[in-house]
This record gives sequence, C-alpha cells and structure tokens, in this order.
Amino acid sequence: MVTSEYERRIAARFAGFDQDGNGYIDREDFMAAAKALLAEFGTAARSDKGQALYVGAEAFWQGMAGIADRDGDQRITREEFVNGAVKRLRDNPDRFAEIARPFLHAALAVAGGDAGVGVDDTSRVLRVLGVDGDLAAQAAAQLDTDGDGRIDEEEIVSAFARYFTVPE
Ligand code: CA
Ligand code: CA
Repeated sequence: MVTSEYERRIAARFAGFDQDGNGYIDREDFMAAAKALLAEFGTAARSDKGQALYVGAEAFWQGMAGIADRDGDQRITREEFVNGAVKRLRDNPDRFAEIARPFLHAALAVAGGDAGVGVDDTSRVLRVLGVDGDLAAQAAAQLDTDGDGRIDEEEIVSAFARYFTVPE
C-alpha cells in the first residue's frame, strides 16, 4: 500500500493526541498532556492555573469524543479519528477551535500569562504535546503571525484549527 502525504500527516496528528502511544485516544491522553505541561512549567496541579488546565483538558476530550467516538466506548480509534474527527473538523474548523480553546487558553496561562507567551515557551508547549523538537521551534516562530515575538490566544487557536483540519 502506498502511503500518501495526506495519510502520513493524519498519522502524525493521531500520534500527537495518543500521548501514551497505546493506539487509541482516550481521556487519559488528555490528562497526561495536562500533567506533562504542568511538570514542564513547574506549576502545581492544585493551583488555579493547574485546575483550569485539567478542566480545559476534560472539555477538549469531551468535545473530541462527541465528534469522533462513534461507538461510545470512550476510546477514539485511528479509524474513528480519520472518519469522524478529521472529516468533520475539516468541514467546520471553527468547531474545533471552540473545543480546543479552553485547554489552549489554560496552557498559555501556564506557560506565560494572559498577555501571550514568548516564542520559546510556545515551542516548549508544543514539544510537551508531542511535536518534534525542530518542528516545534519552527511552528512556534510561524505562529507569531504579527511578528511581535509573542503568541496570543487567537494565533494559537487558529493555528491548531489549521493543523487539525488537514487538507486532502
Ligand atoms: Ca492513548
Ligand atoms: Ca470508540
């Protein structure tokens, strides 16, 4: 079977969500991502920012499950991801942005502050979320669309929506 560039990119998106690499996406993967982010930035889970990140991770998981978990077993398989999440999110990128926003908002607060996060700290966030080191640095630099050296919420939310609404 020939693997297309499109299929490779889908596989990379799936791997990004499947933090523990067990072959499906479930709540544990979102909790693992939140925990890893808190560890990276030395933030306590019981702090306000830590709690907000877990609340955002839960909402992100519920939103993704609502879109993609067709058989309701609380796991998103690769097939459900490709046939559910990717296609539906491509049709409606704004929906994905709204699902991801509370988590991304909380992640930015952990990494920096409400006024936005520097490019280096954004790169750290992306690395923790499973993006390869060099790619994370490049992506963070590209995210700074207005070139002021900081990534704000709109920049990161729209970039996430673009990343996950993979064109065929
Ligand atoms: Ca997993
Ligand atoms: Ca399922």
